Amino acid sequence: MAQFSLSDPATCYAVIGDPVAHSLSPAMQNAALTALGRPERYGLFHVLEADLPAFAEFARKNLAGFNITVPHKQAIIPLLDAVSPEAAAVGSVNTVTVRGGRLHGDSTDGYGLLAALAESFGFRPEGGSVLILGAGGAAQAVAGELARHGVRRLVIANRTVAKAEALAARCAASGAVAAEAVALTDAAALRRVVPECEVVIQATSAGLKDREQVPVEPAVLRGARGIFDMIYHETAIQRFAREQRIPCADGRGMLLHQGAKSLSLWLGVPAPLAAMKEALDGAIARRARGE
Ligand code: NDP
Repeated sequence: MAQFSLSDPATCYAVIGDPVAHSLSPAMQNAALTALGRPERYGLFHVLEADLPAFAEFARKNLAGFNITVPHKQAIIPLLDAVSPEAAAVGSVNTVTVRGGRLHGDSTDGYGLLAALAESFGFRPEGGSVLILGAGGAAQAVAGELARHGVRRLVIANRTVAKAEALAARCAASGAVAAEAVALTDAAALRRVVPECEVVIQATSAGLKDREQVPVEPAVLRGARGIFDMIYHETAIQRFAREQRIPCADGRGMLLHQGAKSLSLWLGVPAPLAAMKEALDGAIARRARGE
């Protein structure tokens, strides 16, 4: 069992994941804490799934809040004392607030996505049609948020079709949205659906470690009206979209807005968006230069 400790006693917030070294949240959140004149720091912990219970106990005693990234957004839930109705509805938690030793889970991914879609494409969910590639934690949060905000049609395409079907069934159960599942390998179905949707959301982790890895044959996205890739560095899918002159945005707007919402939940004040964005853009640029 792993032992967790604080290398810097000012660390009150953190992101956990496996892998987690790639996370840009520390750069963004530390810039925010500095801009707000707060003494606390935001760190990161590499946590294996088997060590989640030990981390939860460590966090109860030592942290004020933490974010959860791939692949623990669902596995963390049974370890929490309470979960917000929004997070419970989507079955995914990316933000935990620690108060009096109790762990309270929220999901800010959906909020971050809607803010980014509005900024990037002027997209409003009411009455819209959206294709989501992926059915993991992020896709679940996104689908739940879109359904709650009035999209008319959701198509979920995943490598493991059973997971797409389960997510589509959960969305359809709300009664207000027509939801269908497709296999990522079903090129004919995807070619038909892509131009019918206002936006395609790339919510798989293909391209996260290997930038050339694609979740789907890019040619099936040729008729897309907009592609939002949740990964925040350049991927082969984003390059394809640019070559095809398809409006495209990477995931940094979502990262910015979900992080801002997490910070507001922890501190109860508006997040300093400009300082966070500047830190995020700087960290992404440094990474692109290989620094
Ligand atoms: P999960 O591990 O919960 O889910 C991963 C998803 O990706 C599953 O649908 C999985 O399919 C699919 N997948 C993985 N590898 C491949 C592949 N080679 N080909 C096709 N599909 C694949 O991860 P999350 O949902 O939490 O995160 C997904 C992505 O979204 C990550 O890249 C993450 O960094 C990003 N993200 C970005 C955010 C932002 O703020 N910009 C916020 C949250 C996430 P299967 O079910 O078949 O295994």
